[in-house]
Amino acid sequence: MSTEIFEYAPAPESRAIVNIKSDYGLYINGKWVAPHSKKRFASINPSNEEVLSKVSLADSVDIDKAVKAARAAYNKVWAKMPPKERAKYLFRIARLLQERAREFAVLEALDNGKPIRETRDVDVPLAAAHFFYHAGWADKLEYAGFGANPKPHGVVAQIIPWNFPLLMLAWKVAPALATGNTVVLKPAETTPLTALLFAEVCEQAELPAGVVNIITGDGSTGASLVNHKDIDKIAFTGSTEVGKLIAKAISDRGIPATLELGGKGANIVFDDAPIDEAVEGIVNGIFFNQGHVCCAGSRLLLQESIVDEFVEKLQSRMAKIRVGDPLDKNTDLGAINSSAQLAKIKEMSESGSKEGAQIWSAPCSLPTKGYWFAPTIFTGVTQAHRIAREEIFGPVLSVLTFRTPQEAMEKANNTPFGLSAGVWTEKGSKILWAANELKAGVIWANTFNKFDAASPFGGYKESGWGREGGRHGLAAYIKGAR
Ligand code: NAP
Ligand code: MG
Repeated sequence: MSTEIFEYAPAPESRAIVNIKSDYGLYINGKWVAPHSKKRFASINPSNEEVLSKVSLADSVDIDKAVKAARAAYNKVWAKMPPKERAKYLFRIARLLQERAREFAVLEALDNGKPIRETRDVDVPLAAAHFFYHAGWADKLEYAGFGANPKPHGVVAQIIPWNFPLLMLAWKVAPALATGNTVVLKPAETTPLTALLFAEVCEQAELPAGVVNIITGDGSTGASLVNHKDIDKIAFTGSTEVGKLIAKAISDRGIPATLELGGKGANIVFDDAPIDEAVEGIVNGIFFNQGHVCCAGSRLLLQESIVDEFVEKLQSRMAKIRVGDPLDKNTDLGAINSSAQLAKIKEMSESGSKEGAQIWSAPCSLPTKGYWFAPTIFTGVTQAHRIAREEIFGPVLSVLTFRTPQEAMEKANNTPFGLSAGVWTEKGSKILWAANELKAGVIWANTFNKFDAASPFGGYKESGWGREGGRHGLAAYIKGAR
């Protein structure tokens, strides 16, 4: 097989379209305000360590101000507004996200390190789709099976991670607003910039003051928001560790929470699968977004009879993954989001080698500045290895094998998580059987990483509580609904 690599000319997307300010305040009650602490922290571009901007570190005083603004907006404006009027704001936001799509795509690639091809074709269009979808629901909630007069919770605290900053914001803000709640949202420390640009979109859409409040900060800001006494619901996406802290913090307050947490998805390839298609799907399942994906197919389960052929084809495909400048339109794999995440990926990979698995990394030259990790697979992985059990959250795939379909199901389910799984086979009956056996919130067959605003997403076990998207996701924002 030829390993020759086709050389591409550079195809950089211009960053001229974004206008990043040197510093940002907090977006509270429709105004930009300085943080009480007067402290700012840098958001950097992880592909070259350039400081992009300084953002505000919110503390409990700022959070109190934001929650009060959200409460006043809820009582005086948003909950009272006829649903068909609320819908117009959501449509307006959706259209503005589309109009400013290139700006969001470039800014997300700069602040997060993910490739422009993904921000342009996945993150931003899906974020707009979530607002369109929920705009459609806003005036039809009484027909959605939640009773004749569905009521919002009130003020919702929302905390999101750094892997899909704008998209996770859309998953949270769109259903909250459609159902009549108001919002205080905290983006992740390393990726606050698209949330701040979204605040500008709220201004442009003339959303009433206080309906959406964006407070930047670190983990302590998130903890203060969770502990504020006047919030009515929490929506969190992030690690299982922090999810558990939140569950404990609210256990005696009786407020509802949706927790979208970690995963260790199994991608299962049976010996009757179309191998070349499956290789593409496995590559997408683990290397999309540098593997910083909660539902990544991070465990590959191969039926024994196809292991050698499959691994060879997978390695040859991995050698063609283009790693580098996130703003280059030909880049497949961008930068690792932070030095802390890179250290975690390295530590997990070292544990894989130490525990006896065989490492193979795609031959590629990595930039000298910034945070980078080559696409990597481990073969000879057993269930006991840490790299088979713990989330790596990077471009690292653990390959395990099985003999019988039953054994595949047992191995796939042998995890504390239960977010996603993939099944590759030409037999429809095997797909339906496996889908019944697998304990995972999302199961893809002969494809992977397909997302739609109408389709509920969420996990079993330590992958979390509740669903986002679709009618199930709406229920989480309506009092007493299931
Ligand atoms: P993380 O450390 O849990 O952080 C998530 C968010 O919580 C961030 O905004 C973080 O702020 C904040 N936070 C940190 N400590 C907190 C505390 N004690 N109380 C309240 N908030 C706190 O997770 P991450 O490393 O950003 O994200 C990666 C994880 O998210 C992975 O485990 C991944 O699987 C999961 N994830 C799940 C889904 C899903 O839908 N199930 C989707 C995407 C990601 P700072 O950024 O300032 O620390
Ligand atoms: Mg950043």
